[in-house]
Amino acid sequence: MSEFEDKDKDKNKDQQKNLKHKNAMEKQKTQVDQRIEEASTERGVAVLLTGNGKGKSSSAFGMVMRALGYGQKVAVVQFIKGVQLSGEEIYLRDHCPQVEFYQMGTGFTWDTQDRSGDIAAATKTWAFAKPLLANPAIDLVVLDELTYMLAYEYLEQSEIIETIQQRPPQQSVVVTGRGGGAALRDVMDTVSEVKDIKHAFKAGIKARKGVDY
Ligand code: ATP
Ligand code: MG
Repeated sequence: MSEFEDKDKDKNKDQQKNLKHKNAMEKQKTQVDQRIEEASTERGVAVLLTGNGKGKSSSAFGMVMRALGYGQKVAVVQFIKGVQLSGEEIYLRDHCPQVEFYQMGTGFTWDTQDRSGDIAAATKTWAFAKPLLANPAIDLVVLDELTYMLAYEYLEQSEIIETIQQRPPQQSVVVTGRGGGAALRDVMDTVSEVKDIKHAFKAGIKARKGVDY
């Protein structure tokens, strides 16, 4: 076969690939457009980000950034206090005074080993979160690491679930943390499980500023 015939064949193959791609994309567009048309309910969503992999809280803070981009009102409540300050806390406190930010003020279980102290702190934190979940002026409420309060039975599951269900219709809520239980999953509109495939920490790489905290 000549060099020209080879080139022609390649060109043909390329054209076929392009055509196939175009057809597939057309089909996909029709399907996506149809689904967009069918989604007619306009209300806030409840999102649960769970699982053992990395990416739950950082995804929640990604949504905070999105909401702030549209000038929406955001509140963040963190149900755990790490040993480390986090970049998101520093940023929100320094640059986003309009964001309501509350963090449970104590260490946590494995540090404090003080169950009643933990319960008192969790209860206080929930007391801050609850009115936010009843405030229609707030577009997005993040309840970071809330699932642990349920797992340790520090907070009443039924009250949390009812409060989430009864929040203002246009308000979205994001809950993060491993586990959380079937009852919580049931009332959430979107549930994503972040799967741990591997994590740098397990290879001895230190938690990294700007990536891990
Ligand atoms: P991130 O805040 O990075 O999105 P996360 O919210 O999904 O993480 P958490 O359980 O809240 O996960 O843990 C927060 C910290 O623990 C982060 O520093 C994160 O990198 C680390 N981490 C998360 N998953 C794992 C894992 N599977 N193994 C080791 N460390 C992890
Ligand atoms: Mg987290």
